[in-house]
Amino acid sequence: MKHTQNRLRKVLLTIPLVFALASCTKDPAGPSGSAVSVGPQMAQLNANLPAEAVNDHYRNTYEVFLYSYYDSDGDGIGDLKGLQQKLDYIQDMGFNSLWLMPVCPSPTYHKYDVTNYMDIDPQYGTLADFDALIKDCHARGITVITDLVLNHTSVDHPWFKQAHDYLKELPADWGASADYCPYFDYYNFSRDRLNGYEPLADTNWYYEARFWSGMPDLRLDSEAVREEIRKVMEFWLDHGVDGFRLDAVTSFYTGNDAQNIEFLRWLCEAGRQLKQDCYFVAEGWTSQDTYASYYASGIDSMFDFAFADSGGVIANTLKGSFGADDYVYALAKEEQLYKSISASYVNAPFYTNHDMGRSAGYYAGDDGTKTKLAEALNLLMQGNAFTYYGEEIGMKGSGKDENKRAPMYWSEDAGAQGMCTGPADMDEVKMKYDSLQKQQEDPYSIVNYVREALRIRNAFPVIARGNTIPVDDLCEEETAVMCREDGEHTPVCIALNLDEAEHTIDLNQCGYTVLSAVLNTSDAYAEVKDGILKLPAYTIAVLTK
Ligand code: CA
Repeated sequence: MKHTQNRLRKVLLTIPLVFALASCTKDPAGPSGSAVSVGPQMAQLNANLPAEAVNDHYRNTYEVFLYSYYDSDGDGIGDLKGLQQKLDYIQDMGFNSLWLMPVCPSPTYHKYDVTNYMDIDPQYGTLADFDALIKDCHARGITVITDLVLNHTSVDHPWFKQAHDYLKELPADWGASADYCPYFDYYNFSRDRLNGYEPLADTNWYYEARFWSGMPDLRLDSEAVREEIRKVMEFWLDHGVDGFRLDAVTSFYTGNDAQNIEFLRWLCEAGRQLKQDCYFVAEGWTSQDTYASYYASGIDSMFDFAFADSGGVIANTLKGSFGADDYVYALAKEEQLYKSISASYVNAPFYTNHDMGRSAGYYAGDDGTKTKLAEALNLLMQGNAFTYYGEEIGMKGSGKDENKRAPMYWSEDAGAQGMCTGPADMDEVKMKYDSLQKQQEDPYSIVNYVREALRIRNAFPVIARGNTIPVDDLCEEETAVMCREDGEHTPVCIALNLDEAEHTIDLNQCGYTVLSAVLNTSDAYAEVKDGILKLPAYTIAVLTK
């Protein structure tokens, strides 16, 4: 519809999307799932869909903040062993990849300021625990990527401390040189207070620290720093990781995209020399055109910020600011954009992450239906689709960062086995939907819906790997139809009804008339008769020929 496309264009230009455990008995939300039924049609139609195992970078990735996930030793802090105990749950959900937020030693709860790139923070366990986790994941076909925080270290990193000590002792009228302290070269020091610089205590020097005085920016031009980074990658690849999530890549050389892209090119090549299929996904929280341009580095994936967060395409579609057609056309358009820059790009859709308010707060008055549909719109996107832990149960959390990283809501009983206490400065976060334990018993719960969406994603590899082809005549504000084809896997058509009313769609126009999977939000059935699809309110159908 013209007006909606115009509206989308307008909003894309103007909105900031461019930044756009039950009881104390045993483990309450333990491995389960197989015994849990979902709504009647999903149970009938989807249950026997076989998962097609494809070993590539198009994954269903679960982002885990270990601190708040599952505590194995009773100190209230989640840990590696705790995560390993939940692999049955994660695997049963249909995730086949994990992104672990930083695991290295750090003075903060979030650990984005590293003091040692080649160890595990004691709060999370040991390297042996890490090795055991990776081994278990790989045995289950789950790949693991870890956060690689290269823009900055902690001020407590020995590199920075030694550079600081050197400059403290340097007579005021002497020039500094890496000949006397190699770590002088590792950071950006200046006699002048430049933009983004902080005073270096007990000296007349300043250092670059773009995010916070506790996180000095590394000087990524330094050959010595690059050699350290190469060794860090080698270390973790030797410990079995399958790739890295790169934090804050637009800040590597602040304000200089060309240099950032050049650095990423070096990094990806160095990583792939160590492990040929080493996977890289980067965070560039900026305009879509800008982060798309980073594909020129040869990186596998850039997080797709345009579709994420409360102001992104998905939330706007569910809020009614965009139509179902806008969502489909935005997909087709961005795929063209990314492909025009890198033929081998793998999109990295995500709906929320640890820096964003949780999605259960996006839709006023929602009974869970919009939360479910939004998760589906994320998981039906092409690429390696990311889900932030807790989103699969519609957890709440907004405001300060700590609230967005609240303990995984395994149980209403905060004292139940494995429950974490969460970051110290977290407010009390009041949940809107049930705990995982309760949701697992409810056929119409968010978690059971998300599991079905993941099941469909695994059963039809073309959904992650194919191109989006809108069926123009069937794309309207309330309903839309798109095909996915990759020339290799069974092609499908996806029909969306994002409206509160039932709709009929004439599929004879596109030739996909076999109802093969469904995501419904009530007990109303979708059906196809003589090529006419009857799609109940808020229902998504997957069709084959
Ligand atoms: Ca613990």
